[in-house]
Amino acid sequence: MSFLPEPKAYTPDEFGDFVEKLEWNGWRPTFVTLHNTGVPSLAVWLDPRHAAKQRIESQGHYERDILHWHSGVHLFVAPNLIWNLCDLTSQGVSVSCWNHLTIGIEMIGDYATESFDSGPGAQVRDNAVAAMAILHRKLGLRPDRYRLGVRGLHFHKECRRDHHDCPGRNVVKADVVARVLAKMNALGASLPGADH
Ligand SMILES: [Zn+2]
Repeated sequence: MSFLPEPKAYTPDEFGDFVEKLEWNGWRPTFVTLHNTGVPSLAVWLDPRHAAKQRIESQGHYERDILHWHSGVHLFVAPNLIWNLCDLTSQGVSVSCWNHLTIGIEMIGDYATESFDSGPGAQVRDNAVAAMAILHRKLGLRPDRYRLGVRGLHFHKECRRDHHDCPGRNVVKADVVARVLAKMNALGASLPGADH
């Protein structure tokens, strides 16, 4: 995996410009895997006593130094920004079943209990949807037509051997996929394989 020396934060528009310039010449992902952090929860993340950047940097440090389910995700999605931690053009480490096939996206929050359809949870959702739409469009992928380990948007919990209920049940895949497709449409993406 390739950690960036310094995590970088993007608005969704800036992330679109950034991804547009990327090239996947060696490794090429075939689907996205979605996570939520669980810890920190959104409530902890939004606690004003600590600067967001400090927190993401300490998270990056944690990931480098301690083996963890979510070590080496490519993106961390917050209510306001999309943070890039690992090189999107290199394999990451986020899900033991299919690291070699996937871009790992971590959403800040514990969606087993926190809301994913209102307040800051909905902001995280919208930023994650934007990031996924941008990546799917650029890579010529579809979030739908799921086949385990092959194609379509994956959730971490679909990797049974990780025994990790991630993301929490308030994240509903059919809803996320529909939102990514709608956003791709808004971005002018033509869906690959639309004829079959
Ligand atoms: Zn996970």
